[in-house]
Amino acid sequence: MRYSHQRELILKEVLSRKDHPTAEQICTSLREVCPRLSLGTVYRDLNTLVEIGKVRRVSIPGEADRFDAELGVHQNLFCRKCRKVVSLPISEDTLHNLVMSCPEVKVENYYLTVFGLCSDCARQEG
Ligand SMILES: [Zn+2]
Repeated sequence: MRYSHQRELILKEVLSRKDHPTAEQICTSLREVCPRLSLGTVYRDLNTLVEIGKVRRVSIPGEADRFDAELGVHQNLFCRKCRKVVSLPISEDTLHNLVMSCPEVKVENYYLTVFGLCSDCARQEG
């Protein structure tokens, strides 16, 4: 399979999912259509896709990187129980104003990762 075709497949897979998959999860589901796909290739292609700005990497300390096709400003929550990453509807203006109010630095980018429980797990814990 041609390299670029494979990368297209990986991009489509990330775009079709809302669950912030890891490289391994992407590899597992693509192996159904492409049984010889290697995890190393998926990692490489994902890195390229991040570099060219097609997907976003979500880094959680101590966790495998997640990949997100939603490029607009939004923040994520990492659920400590089910280890899911979900988008958080935090007002962009509020966060932007907060970050931009830091004195003496030039802010170019920022991500906020919130740690806690997703709505499903929060319900279960009561
Ligand atoms: Zn959860």
